[in-house]
Amino acid sequence: MITSKLNIRVLSRYFLLSLFVLTYSCSNGQPKESGEFRQPDLVEPIKLDSTFHLDIKYATDNNFLGKPVYMQARAFLQRPAAEALIRANRKLQKEGYGIIIFDGYRPWSVTKLFWDSVTEEERQAGFVADPQKGSRHNRGCAVDLTLYSLETGKEVVMPSEYDEFTERAFSDFSGGDSEAIRLRDLLSSTMESEGFQVLKEEWWHFDYKDWRLYPILNLPFEEL
Ligand SMILES: [Zn+2]
Repeated sequence: MITSKLNIRVLSRYFLLSLFVLTYSCSNGQPKESGEFRQPDLVEPIKLDSTFHLDIKYATDNNFLGKPVYMQARAFLQRPAAEALIRANRKLQKEGYGIIIFDGYRPWSVTKLFWDSVTEEERQAGFVADPQKGSRHNRGCAVDLTLYSLETGKEVVMPSEYDEFTERAFSDFSGGDSEAIRLRDLLSSTMESEGFQVLKEEWWHFDYKDWRLYPILNLPFEEL
């Protein structure tokens, strides 16, 4: 009896810890991925640190599509990325700022919708991810964000708006307001110190270093 209980415990532990192999065969155009991936463990950063602010633009009509694409205003990340984001938030708080999350995990079908909604020029400019490659958002390892001032509670001014498809959105854009550039660089250097990499075309987009370890997912928020 004890042995069988132990076996069950060992087996369940093995199941939880083991890497699992995914081979998608999808009829909706989602790319097939073969290989070993970590077990996804999507969590909501705001449930681990209530000082984050959420402004989930894709759950509103205030986004580049002009309509909501999420039915729930929630943001998820894989657990190690969420924990790194919490550490970045704490560092920023020492400088007088907090993080506003715009977006985290994004189901693959939404990336496909974005691709189908923009012009060929915008695709070429790299402003949307190619659904055939999948986005790092689809893997739960990318986050879009900005800063708010701890003093006023208000969002700070950055060199461009979120999802502004212009050169002002580039993470190395050097024109414009010097205070906006300082805050953008404070955000990126702090995020980089915790294992995130800023996207060249978007100052607000950061990839977590372990994104390759997670599969492309297409689960809606309602199922998480
Ligand atoms: Zn992004």
